[in-house]
Amino acid sequence: MFIESFKVESPNVKYTDSEIQSVYNYETTELVHENRNGKYQWIVKPKTVKYEFVTNTNVPKLGVMLVGWGGNNGSTLTGGVIANREGISWATKDKIQQANYFGSLTQASAIRVGSFNGEEIYAPFKSLLPLVNPEDIVFGGWDISDMNLADAMARAKVFDIDLQKQLRPYMESMVPLPGIYDPDFIAANQGDRANNVIKGTKKEQVQQIIKDIKEFKEVNKVDRVVVLWTANTERYSNMVVGLNDTMENLLASLDRNESEISPSTLYAIACVMENVPFINGSPQNTFVPGLIDLAIQRNSLIGGDDFKSGQTKMKSVLVDFLVGAGIKPTSIASYNHLGNNDGMNLSAPQTFRSKEISKSNVVDDMVNSNAILYEPGEHPDHVVVIKYVPYVGDSKRAMDEYTSEIFMGGKNTIVMHNTCEDSLLAAPIILDLVLLAELSTRIQFKAEGEGKFHSFHPVAAILSYLTKAPLVPPGTPVVNALSKQRAMLENIMRACIGLAPENNMILEYK
Ligand code: NAD
Repeated sequence: MFIESFKVESPNVKYTDSEIQSVYNYETTELVHENRNGKYQWIVKPKTVKYEFVTNTNVPKLGVMLVGWGGNNGSTLTGGVIANREGISWATKDKIQQANYFGSLTQASAIRVGSFNGEEIYAPFKSLLPLVNPEDIVFGGWDISDMNLADAMARAKVFDIDLQKQLRPYMESMVPLPGIYDPDFIAANQGDRANNVIKGTKKEQVQQIIKDIKEFKEVNKVDRVVVLWTANTERYSNMVVGLNDTMENLLASLDRNESEISPSTLYAIACVMENVPFINGSPQNTFVPGLIDLAIQRNSLIGGDDFKSGQTKMKSVLVDFLVGAGIKPTSIASYNHLGNNDGMNLSAPQTFRSKEISKSNVVDDMVNSNAILYEPGEHPDHVVVIKYVPYVGDSKRAMDEYTSEIFMGGKNTIVMHNTCEDSLLAAPIILDLVLLAELSTRIQFKAEGEGKFHSFHPVAAILSYLTKAPLVPPGTPVVNALSKQRAMLENIMRACIGLAPENNMILEYK
């Protein structure tokens, strides 16, 4: 059975006009490696830590500013949300299609609430905590191309033509603000597009972005803004001691107009200065150590990197399944070809390299979790190839071959072929990222013994489910396995309303 909403009744949970307060017992373990009777042993001690969570339930009016607004993802997300808001339906060759949010964790997935009269009861994921309604979001942003969003949607060739015709009147007047352009950081083939750029020194460019955010807030009367990078993949910026290794050095480099500060880092600096959450949907190292340092010092949310939309999402499920089943993946070969502007930009070796790096570490945690299968330091062969094939447009092809060792030296090969519009996978993920980033800024918590409530660490690991190369606070383990990432997010939200993690034991029926 499916229910739309529910309320928790418990001595540990209190709903007020503006907050949900919960007391939550975090069941965890403490490990010690001790010499007992002359022999070292691992001792595991179950431990309960009491946490208090406070969630502000006043949902703000949210503005979302996309860097790369006129790109395939930016125009697809904007059009998709308008189509949902306006209840648009359109004719395809198969049927009359209604707008929906398929592919969005927050809008289209469900959680299990419990069982009732022997039946499992589910509710929308978004019923856990109050989230901004996507249809209330005001979209805006920057692009180095001045094309309006209606033309950008046509350029993207993602939506059916009947849908495009209906969306056009809503999108024609949406024109991106000039963006920060530095040809050194993206492929040379993007040069023709760059007719809408901010002039001046890097510091002046940062100041312009800050001004843009302030004006956007004022004009659209929004309470909060989230900024998300869905612009071209940049090359990695060099990490240099004295240049971008600390907050002080990064800000001094900005003053000196150092060439090695990338446009994405400039947008991020502006956002952190304004305490506006900034999410990076591309693979490059926007978050150089100096920027992470700055975000921590100013307690301003940053999250990334690189949307986890297709091939990598599959990988973080399949390898988790294989290794979890005691099967040993030994070679993973992933081929992609795509024909959209992202593919064209990735055809340059430096930008491809950023993608290759972000796609490559995704199996590490799973491989490291099982020393029965892998010797220390051993790793499956893992190769990623991306080719630009203009004809296929946004309809990306991903082909994967997984070879594993099975029982008694046997080999097992799994081959997968995935075809679909890349932007239709990415757009709902962008939506989830901004909604969850906004939500996480409304949650405060403290562990027993901690004096004051505080927010989550500014490096938003809570968004990991949605990113290929999750950015986590320094010294924190990276989790790539998709089911663990989803459980982490869901269970933290459950803790905010005093519910235990979903443990799947169903003991009441055993
Ligand atoms: P796109 O090329 O269609 O859009 C990018 C837009 O950014 C373009 O309109 C371009 O003019 C603009 N742009 C470039 N540099 C800019 C700058 N400095 N400031 C402002 N605007 C700038 O690409 P897309 O398909 O929308 O993808 C966007 C990004 O998302 C890419 O980096 C891609 O690798 C990443 N990504 C996409 C997916 C997916 O499934 N679609 C998955 C993971 C990551």
